[in-house]
Amino acid sequence: MTSAPALELRNVSAAYGRIEVLHNVSFSVPAGCVFALLGSNGAGKSTIHKVASGRLAPTDGCVHVAGIHINGADPDQIARAGVCTIPEGRGIFPNLTVAENLRMMTYAGTVKFKDVEERAFARFPDLAERRKQLAGSLSGGQQQMVAMARALTTEPSLLLLDEISIGLAPLIVGELYELVRQLRDEGISILVVEQFAQTALAIADYAAVISHGTIVAVGQPQDIADEVSAAYLGGVA
Ligand code: ATP
Repeated sequence: MTSAPALELRNVSAAYGRIEVLHNVSFSVPAGCVFALLGSNGAGKSTIHKVASGRLAPTDGCVHVAGIHINGADPDQIARAGVCTIPEGRGIFPNLTVAENLRMMTYAGTVKFKDVEERAFARFPDLAERRKQLAGSLSGGQQQMVAMARALTTEPSLLLLDEISIGLAPLIVGELYELVRQLRDEGISILVVEQFAQTALAIADYAAVISHGTIVAVGQPQDIADEVSAAYLGGVA
């Protein structure tokens, strides 16, 4: 028996007001894989991310998480299905310390703060020495680590990442993607939405290229190299 995909979009369309920006989008993220969604500015990547995380309801089509239909489910229900989202901009609280950002993840009462801190600092030793520092005063890479550490407290089965590389130096981006690879090896399925095509493709099991709200190619990275280049008009980062 094959397991259901971690995430599946079937013929999804989505709109802001009356303007449709996703047209009949279909792809699936197999369980335990990294799937990179690539495309230039305004192609529709963040909108797909919003639909997959329940922040935007599709106007047509279906979204399934681990085989369960989640259209119209609220973000809380989607989180309970094992989905964790890191939005573009990281979604952390800049005026709270690193420790306070982590503590907020314990309010549901399902995990203890001590355990959350221990796990976060074991994975991100850089954050341990900055636990009392305001998150907003950290470097971009460290802020992304706080966002990742917060996400991992929920022990997600599906992680949705939006442009984790934005504004970061290539070395840091490489380190973050190394972490993404490790998380995949630990069994987490991951959708990465990315403009840094090459870095994401180096670790992705599958990828899709989106252009003007339509998927123009999907497959293993080596099979869609031409479409990736075309989508970025030679400007692949
Ligand atoms: P970027 O890398 O710039 O974030 P993207 O590929 O993630 O680009 P989206 O943000 O999904 O693209 O945008 C897809 C289309 O939807 C674009 O034409 C954009 O202008 C439009 N759009 C995005 N957000 C909104 C919104 N809140 N209201 C209206 N239109 C929007």
